[in-house]
Amino acid sequence: MRIARFSIDGNVAFGAVEGDAAPGAEGELVLDIIKGIPFADFELSGTKVPLAKVRLLPPVLPNKIVAVGRNYAEHAAELGNSLVDEQGALEPPLTFFKPSTSVVGSGDPITYPPFSQDLHHEAELAVVIGRMCREVPKERVKDVILGYTCANDVTARDVQRREKQWARAKGFDSSCPLGPWIETDLDPSDLTIQCTVNGEQRQLGRTSDMVRSIEDLIVHISEAMTLLPGDVILTGTPAGVGPLNVGDEVAVTIEGIGTLTNKVIKRG
Ligand code: MG
Repeated sequence: MRIARFSIDGNVAFGAVEGDAAPGAEGELVLDIIKGIPFADFELSGTKVPLAKVRLLPPVLPNKIVAVGRNYAEHAAELGNSLVDEQGALEPPLTFFKPSTSVVGSGDPITYPPFSQDLHHEAELAVVIGRMCREVPKERVKDVILGYTCANDVTARDVQRREKQWARAKGFDSSCPLGPWIETDLDPSDLTIQCTVNGEQRQLGRTSDMVRSIEDLIVHISEAMTLLPGDVILTGTPAGVGPLNVGDEVAVTIEGIGTLTNKVIKRG
């Protein structure tokens, strides 16, 4: 099931997305409004609205976003980072937070931060947690996942290089586009993940090239902290990251999910 969050006539609701549409023609899809919330038992109401009539919102409002860096070897190499220590052992996963206030939905603008001159796109598969959990054993990981969506870990690369912690470089407002919706029925182990800017391909990878699997990442993160329903794990970006400029339209497409599209604007 594809679960979207949207506003209609001033109300916020979740809906199941029905139908198939070509990229760019998503307005032809229909939403069956959900009674309740997707993190508990819920029913479809049978009340349907065309997607074209609603405004899509971020599919989830996470309490926290835990992001993983350097989870694709080619991307680590393109930024000059090694995945192994001096003894040749694999480094532990690199994790960081993006704040809840960084989240925007598909169709919302990315505002170019005035303290950066080098904004980059990072297409990533996002995992949406479905239930409160901690110390999740590997064999239980699938039970705590609600579904998957597309993410863009937008990064002020110059600020990331300049400052030891990445809170500003990766945590500014609108630095975490999520969407367009959550796909709950998906095997995430080998999906194409693509990023285009103004229709030109910049990144193309496969989730099977992750250094750490989704299971391993959730075991590692939940060893340290409780994950809440709606929390999001960003699983790293494949090679090909590059600059975004004011006026650009950036799109992240993941096989089996859909396309997350955002335009870069100057702060007014
Ligand atoms: Mg990233």
